[in-house]
Amino acid sequence: MIISHLDSSKIHLWTTGNEILQRGYFGGELNLLTALAQVIVHEFSHVIQVILNTEDAAKSHGKLFYKILDKAHVSGMADRIKDELNSRCLDMGVDLSEVKSTGTGKNSKDFSIGQTVWLAGRYSYLNPFKVTYRKRNLKLVSLKDKDKTLLAHPSYVYSTAEARKNPDIDVG
Ligand SMILES: [Zn+2]
Repeated sequence: MIISHLDSSKIHLWTTGNEILQRGYFGGELNLLTALAQVIVHEFSHVIQVILNTEDAAKSHGKLFYKILDKAHVSGMADRIKDELNSRCLDMGVDLSEVKSTGTGKNSKDFSIGQTVWLAGRYSYLNPFKVTYRKRNLKLVSLKDKDKTLLAHPSYVYSTAEARKNPDIDVG
């Protein structure tokens, strides 16, 4: 968990990293400092949820959970945790905010079944793809080779318009 929090291309894949990007916590700024502070606030919110012991507590990330989490941010408690963590790490010569996320925080709802999409990097030789299924990840089928399918986190998937702006993707 800590190793992938240290990888700037993976911070956003954690629920807590995605929460910062999707819900705008800490001003939507995702780096190792805000990610670790969010882990503390997130887990503490679970404790509060269990103490409240309502029916919603069975749904670990339900409406009540996000009500508690939102309150932790609105009240300034989350910022105080982040500032304390930052201060203690700076005292040891470590600036956690230097590890910045390079992820986009997209989720599967940003794509539709049948949409043509693109990948950068390792699988780009199979571009373009078609979205055939979506849950947390997207199932993609290569339009060049229909036998090639893969699951991809939405953060690594680009619409045609996004792909045209990305120098790492050859839209042709
Ligand atoms: Zn949780």
